[in-house]
Order: sequence, then structure tokens, then C-alpha cells
Amino acid sequence: MKTDIQIAQGAELLPIKDVAASIGISEEDLEPYGRYKAKLSESLWNKIKRCKDGKLVLVTAINPTPAGEGKTTTTVGLGQAMAKLNKKALIALREPSLGPCFGIKGGAAGGGYAQVVPMEDLNLHFTGDFHAITSANNLLAAMLDNHIQQGNTLQIDPRQIVWKRCLDMNDRVLRNIVVGLGNKTDGMVREDHFVITVASEIMAILCLADDLADLKRRLGRIIVAYNFEGNPVTAEDLQATGAMTALLKDALKPNIIQTLEHTPALVHGGPFANIAHGCNSVRATKMALKLSDITITEAGFGADLGAEKFMDIKCRKAGLKPDAVVLVATVRALKYNGGAEKGNLGEESLKALAKGIVNLEKHIENIQKYDVPIVVALNSFVTDTAAEHEFIRTFCEERGCEFALSEVWEKGGEGGIRLAEKVLETLENKESHFRLLYEDELSLKDKIETIAREIYGARGVVYEAAAKKQLAKIENMGFGSFPVCMAKNQYSLSDDAGKLGRPENFDIHIREVYVSAGAGFVVALTGAVMTMPGLPKVPAANQIDVTEDGKITGLF
Ligand code: ADP
Ligand code: MG
Repeated sequence: MKTDIQIAQGAELLPIKDVAASIGISEEDLEPYGRYKAKLSESLWNKIKRCKDGKLVLVTAINPTPAGEGKTTTTVGLGQAMAKLNKKALIALREPSLGPCFGIKGGAAGGGYAQVVPMEDLNLHFTGDFHAITSANNLLAAMLDNHIQQGNTLQIDPRQIVWKRCLDMNDRVLRNIVVGLGNKTDGMVREDHFVITVASEIMAILCLADDLADLKRRLGRIIVAYNFEGNPVTAEDLQATGAMTALLKDALKPNIIQTLEHTPALVHGGPFANIAHGCNSVRATKMALKLSDITITEAGFGADLGAEKFMDIKCRKAGLKPDAVVLVATVRALKYNGGAEKGNLGEESLKALAKGIVNLEKHIENIQKYDVPIVVALNSFVTDTAAEHEFIRTFCEERGCEFALSEVWEKGGEGGIRLAEKVLETLENKESHFRLLYEDELSLKDKIETIAREIYGARGVVYEAAAKKQLAKIENMGFGSFPVCMAKNQYSLSDDAGKLGRPENFDIHIREVYVSAGAGFVVALTGAVMTMPGLPKVPAANQIDVTEDGKITGLF
């Protein structure tokens, strides 16, 4: 069997201008980055902004196994299948981070015969957006430390600096560091921290910004520290906003590439799905809605995190309204949720499946709370058995849920025709009455409790003393109307990664709360959340290489 990269490298790509032309984008509105990648220019937005919006379809999933359950693969395959049915569909995805690429998970361009290409470019430097974000983030950090060095007129309390440096790499030794060692001219000594670029607030800002002016406003509002009186100091106070915007000017423009079957895909932005909202950029989604009849987009992790934030943060902030949700499930992940060992997921077990299917049930119920029609897409693996597939189909149909087997990984668009037909039927016959889970006016505590009870199925919420204080302070600062961005592990509906299936009688523990004033949400951390991952014992990087003629191998 061919690996993802072998399939991707075997593909014949069309020049990106031809792919763009297929959805009516002319060459003058494209900014090419080589032959197969381009950015969509500002002039394009001005031409299309008055067009009617197409339909919006969100692809999300049940709680996954550590390998990922195929949301990107399904998103890409569904886009390919729509094209086979002559529908004008556009895929809107996130850009991959280098961290997981060299760590455990590998790339994020989809898989099998449902991928976007050129996959090496996308997974590595692509069009430089993440480098721009890293630079803007670290410019702000440098200006902050320099301000203290040059006399600290803003009276920044070095013990209350909240801005962290960032790098797009899994590098655990940078989590906690000391900067400013040396002599007087080398700066003030203080403890500092790195996060991975995708966890930077700037990534979240770039993905939520409507346009350049909005980007600038949001950057200016970033809280970098508190002064000795306890009041916030912002990026604007440091006069960093203009220079940061200059670094991000091109990164704000969505990127266009193609699938293995030449369907266009907008790939833009990639915020973490834990301490940020885990969706591609608002800018790309809005452009896609104007350019196509159906926009298919993905949110990170399971529906308890990704879909919840897509609805309650992204859609709320950007005024978007999803028309349907595709909920990806796999036999593997359901068996995993039913207690099957990680090594035995390829063996038939109707017993583990019956036990784990409650996880799918809970996610179906959750999405119904937003009143958006659902299609369950069973991402088929070669190890699945027909009995296992039928069990899941019956389960869904008994609950009045649309169901389709998806074979896009194995067969590309052809394998997604049934799924695409189900989605089209749903868009035509079932109306979305999208509503948010909670109102802006609710207190932050009530918002957290609503998410914990309604989405996670928790009994209640337990706050650490520090978190209670932080909540009061954030409301006092005037940020009480922000939505809450929950940071939780992705494996369990609870905050304990070991509690699989559909846990009951558990509490959610809020350890820390802080405001991302530029992004416009309040982050609530449950348990230990990683903002700078480490590499595993045998990192994927060990296998990656380049041949003498410049071909990359081992990336997956
Ligand atoms: P997610 O977006 O949910 O994290 P991806 O679509 O990135 O998941 O898929 C994760 C990995 O699983 C990829 O390496 C992909 O090739 C693989 N994969 C996805 N679907 C299948 C499938 N049906 N059979 C085998 N491997 C698959
Ligand atoms: Mg994905």
C-alpha cells in the first residue's frame, strides 16, 4: 500500500491559476507563491463581498484515538465527491503546524486518496504564514523586554508578564526558561516561557480578524503584562501594533491549493483547539462562502472542543451560520471508547463497539442542541467488518440521524459520493435553526457551567481558588461578555483523558482562567494543558529525508 506522501507525490497537479479559474477567480486576483500555491488578494474580496453566501458545512468528530479519526481526510474527500457530482464546493482547512509534523501525528493534509497537495509544501513552510505569526509574536516580546530595559515608563511588573515567546516546534526545554542572564546591558533577568506558534494569541487573532483594520485593532488590545498597580498593559501601550500588522499583512490573505482531484481548497490559519478555538480563518471561510455554493470546513479535535468553539466562538464572532454538520466516526475510535486496547483496534469486537457507541450518541445529542442537521460519516478502515458497519448504521438510523459510509481514504472522491449525496439531501430538506449554546450576557461562570453540563455531561464545575479570583478580575476589567474558550484534553468528554465513552458523575476542574483580549475570548484551563508539546521517544522527524534530486520522503 502506498503511503500518503507517495500518493501525493504521484499526483499530477494543475497550475494553481487553472484551479482558481474553476471557481471564477481570475489571475489578477491571485498572488502566486510558485506554480501550485497562491494567496487570494484583497482586490478579490472587494469584487465578491456582495455575492450571496453559499451553504456552510462543518466537519467534526467523536472523541478520537491518538492517531486522529479522519476529519481532514473526510473534509477533503467530501469536497472531491461534490466536484464529481458537479457541485461548486470549496474546502476550507487549517494550515498544519511543524510541531506534530515532526512529532507523533504527522502532517495534516488529509490521507490516502483524499489529500490536498502539494502536501510537502503545506506541511513544511507553505506560504510563510506561521513564520510571520512567530515573528510578530516575538517582536512584541522583544519590545516588551526592551521597554523594561529602557526605563520601564509603563511600570510593567516583571512578575506579571503574561506574554510568551513562541516557536513552531515541539521543544519541551523552552517551556520554562530564564532570559536576560549576563550583565546590565543584557536585559532584566526574569523567568520566561515559550508556546508553540499555533498556541499564540496572534494565531487566534489572525483567524478571527475580519480585515486588516480589525486585525490591527485586535493586536492592539493584546494584554502583555500588568503594571505594579495591577492594571493591564497592552501591545498598543508598547506601540507595537503597527509593526506587528506590517509583519502580518500578507499572512492575513487566504491561501489556495488543490486536492488530488484538482478541487480548490482554501487553507488558512491554524489555531490550537485547546487554548484557542481550533478553526481555520474567518477570512477564508467568508471568502469560500462567497466563491462557492457549499463550503466544507473542519474544526479541531472532537465535537466537544472543536465544534463547540466553532459554533460558540467563531460563528458567534463572525456572524456565521452552519447549515449542516458532518460528524466523523470510526469503528476504531468507538471500540477505543468502549475500552478496547490500542493495539487491538483492528480486530472485530461488537462488544467493545456496543460499549463505546455511547460516545457517538453524546456527540449527536450535543450537536442537536445547536439545532443544526447532522450526517454521521463513518470513515471506513480496511480492518473494519461489515457487521461493525451495520451496527453503527442501525444505531444512527434509530436515532433519526442521517448516515453514510465514507471510503474517501481508499477511493478518493468516488468513495465519498454517498456521503456527498446525503449531505446534499440534508441541505435541501432539513433546515438549520442554528442557535448558540449560551448568550453573551451570561456570567463567565455560568458560561463555563453551561458548556460543562450540556456538552461534556458533567455533574458540576470545581474552581481552584486562583481561578475564582481570576474570573472576578476579568469581569471587573470588562471582559465578562466574551465567550469562553475551554482548554481540555481531546480524548475524553471529561477533563480526565482516561475516562472514555460517555462518562457520568464527574466534575470539571478549572485550574486557571485568563483573557485573550485581542482574540476576544476568555480561556478556561481544565487539568494540565500543553501549550508547548514535546517530541516523543521516536519522533517522526527520524524518518524524514530528502533524496539527491530534492524529493522529500518519510513525511506522512
Ligand atoms: P484528523 O483531521 O481527524 O486529525 P486526519 O484526516 O488528519 O485526521 O487523519 C489522521 C491520519 O489517519 C492520517 O494519517 C490519515 O492518512 C489516516 N486515515 C484517515 N482515514 C483513514 C482511513 N479510512 N484508513 C486508513 N487511514 C486513515
Ligand atoms: Mg485534521
